[in-house]
Amino acid sequence: MKNKLLESAFTFAQEAIIITDEQQNIVDINAAMQQITGYSKAELIGQKPKIFNLKKQGKVLRQTIWQALQRYGCWYGEVANRRKDGTYYVGQLRIKRLNISDKIFYLGYLTDISNAKKHQETPSADGSIHYLEQIVDREQLRQQYQAMRLAAEQDHKQLVIAFMDLDAFTTVNELYGRALANKLLHAIPKRIRSVLAETDSITRYSGDQFVLMLGTIHDPQQVLDKLNTVLRAVNHPFVINNRTMRVSASIGYTFYRNDNASLEKLLRQANRSMHNARLSGKYSLFAYDPAEQAQIAARNQQLAEISKGLKSEQFELFYQPKVTLSTGDLFGFEALIRWNHPEKGMLTPDKFIEQLYETDLEVNLGQWVINQALRQLAEWQQAGYDYQLSINLTAYHLSSADFFEWLNTHIQQYPQLDTKQFQIEILESNRLSDLKLIASVMKRCKSELGITIALDDFGTAYSSLTHIRTLPVDVVKIDKSFVCNMLVDPEDCKIVEGIIALAQSFNICVIAEGVETVAHGRVLLAMGCDQVQGYAVSRPLTRTQLTEFVRNYQPITAWCEQAELLTNQKLAWVSLFNFYLHAWVEQLHQRIFADPDTNIDWPISNPADSHCGIWLGKTNIGHQIDDNTRQQLRFYHQSIFRIGNGLLTQYRAGEIEASRAGYNAQRDSIHNTLAQLQAFTEQIAKA
Ligand code: C2E
Ligand code: CA
Ligand code: CA
Repeated sequence: MKNKLLESAFTFAQEAIIITDEQQNIVDINAAMQQITGYSKAELIGQKPKIFNLKKQGKVLRQTIWQALQRYGCWYGEVANRRKDGTYYVGQLRIKRLNISDKIFYLGYLTDISNAKKHQETPSADGSIHYLEQIVDREQLRQQYQAMRLAAEQDHKQLVIAFMDLDAFTTVNELYGRALANKLLHAIPKRIRSVLAETDSITRYSGDQFVLMLGTIHDPQQVLDKLNTVLRAVNHPFVINNRTMRVSASIGYTFYRNDNASLEKLLRQANRSMHNARLSGKYSLFAYDPAEQAQIAARNQQLAEISKGLKSEQFELFYQPKVTLSTGDLFGFEALIRWNHPEKGMLTPDKFIEQLYETDLEVNLGQWVINQALRQLAEWQQAGYDYQLSINLTAYHLSSADFFEWLNTHIQQYPQLDTKQFQIEILESNRLSDLKLIASVMKRCKSELGITIALDDFGTAYSSLTHIRTLPVDVVKIDKSFVCNMLVDPEDCKIVEGIIALAQSFNICVIAEGVETVAHGRVLLAMGCDQVQGYAVSRPLTRTQLTEFVRNYQPITAWCEQAELLTNQKLAWVSLFNFYLHAWVEQLHQRIFADPDTNIDWPISNPADSHCGIWLGKTNIGHQIDDNTRQQLRFYHQSIFRIGNGLLTQYRAGEIEASRAGYNAQRDSIHNTLAQLQAFTEQIAKA
């Protein structure tokens, strides 16, 4: 019964309704939609909505709509399009993104406002809207501006141009109907007039937009006060035809800077600020900031340079090897982008990648990377190398419209490709805002294309636990900031251990990046992480260097020899202690023999706060090892710290040479203790 009712409501609704699936194919439309567009249901089902299909307007609009849908789950605005018979209609479109039983749908409502618009605007051939008849006579406004400008200059006062737009006026239209809404639009300037000075002006500019010109301003605070009064006045209820109506507005404004600027320029500035105001929510005020504009201009310039560089092939992929610790197997590479800048030389991504943030160019660059990588992977596979190749992709690119279709088309160009070896690394940032969408794209990439997904920089976002649970990732990549630092900072060490345990419990592979030394690899192996990437193996390489590297590659024996750490849990535990104590002695040595001014970390002198101390505390609670073993290890720890801390005290007191001499004198004793610990560890391995 209820379903039948809903169905009738859908069919007979005055408003045109369109429903699409996640890929934006039309699933259903109602009668009103057929009426507006002139297309029948049969002609539209299964098609992509042509609502956005007009050439120029189409691309920009489509992207704006898509981004809004991904970010906020809804979009509304005006669209212009052709009916089946070739005539135009202007429609007010509202789209909502719905998640029903884990499936995404888009629900669109379209109201034909062509008649209301007819006397105002007409779409031109490219579908963009031109104003035929403006509500305000622009020439009159311009004359008014010239007069106010001269007056302000003469009186040494300032002139402010403000742009006011009503918030969510479409809703007002829907709520009260057009006739009442129009009356409201007439009432608003009248009310505002009453809070302005004689010399100020308010003009309805178009639709629900108004321009205010405030003369005789002597300080910025006065503008703020005045415009806030205006906002409050608008916000105060209106009673029209006995109905109480409420609206709010947002205002952007700019100062005339005695520079002969045209009214159009100032209106553009004010309008831009109005959009900024909107970003901070309804009922808000925003001033135009020239410094911010300068920044925007500089960024645009950089973007243009990057775009040019992309066209003239100034970008290049470098490749950093990834290896398995326990077997020494060189199993793949990560592609890392470089910009071979004509003047500045070879630039790493930190010099340019941030500029691209959420721009079309970010997507273009990502597509370039994918194409290069696919070609490289195909080349390797043809030559008989079964390497994995991973690329870095931004969440923005991954969630952009048509990402999957684009990738699919380009992968199909290599029919022989073993896509299992193609991996996408997605940054674990707080920009992973729409997890549902990202998860669904990832799922399709995995199930339909066979590629694998890694979560990059894992541990750096607020919601790692949610990400690992929600996203269908194959690999988590422990961020290098934790790995690099873990032998010095026990906190980072805890994070690395935690991530490995987390990945294991979710049955996800884990790889550590930033493995700079052999010691790092050993510790990771003992922690249960078997895959690494970092300077200890190699820096990122050019294609030529890579060929050379592959030819001469030798596994690091210190890692392969300790493969048993992965299977022997007790050995792994004790070895960790062993590695930590070695690392402490190494750090002690470095500090004492370095110049006091050299900026290197100090070894932790409080035994309880050191890696070994924390380790002892933890095993005490977890009972991973027996009391005797712990006693023995505690003894080694104390012996080394007693000597080391004595030397550090001397060094701190400025007795540099004495501390170095002390180290040399006690070197044998230190090494003896470490050797005993080593023997003790090996004994456990055999037990
Ligand atoms: P990432 O994905 O975390 O890449 C690892 C970075 O760590 C690389 O820096 C690499 O050179 C560096 N690295 C590797 N081993 C070590 C090590 O042992 N110690 C230290 N300290 N660093 C190591 P790179 O190449 O400068 O890239 C920086 C970031 O730029 C990357 O971080 C990635 O987020 C981004 N990036 C790189 N290529 C691309 C790309 O093609 N597209 C996009 N969107 N971003 C990229
Ligand atoms: Ca990466
Ligand atoms: Ca990283």
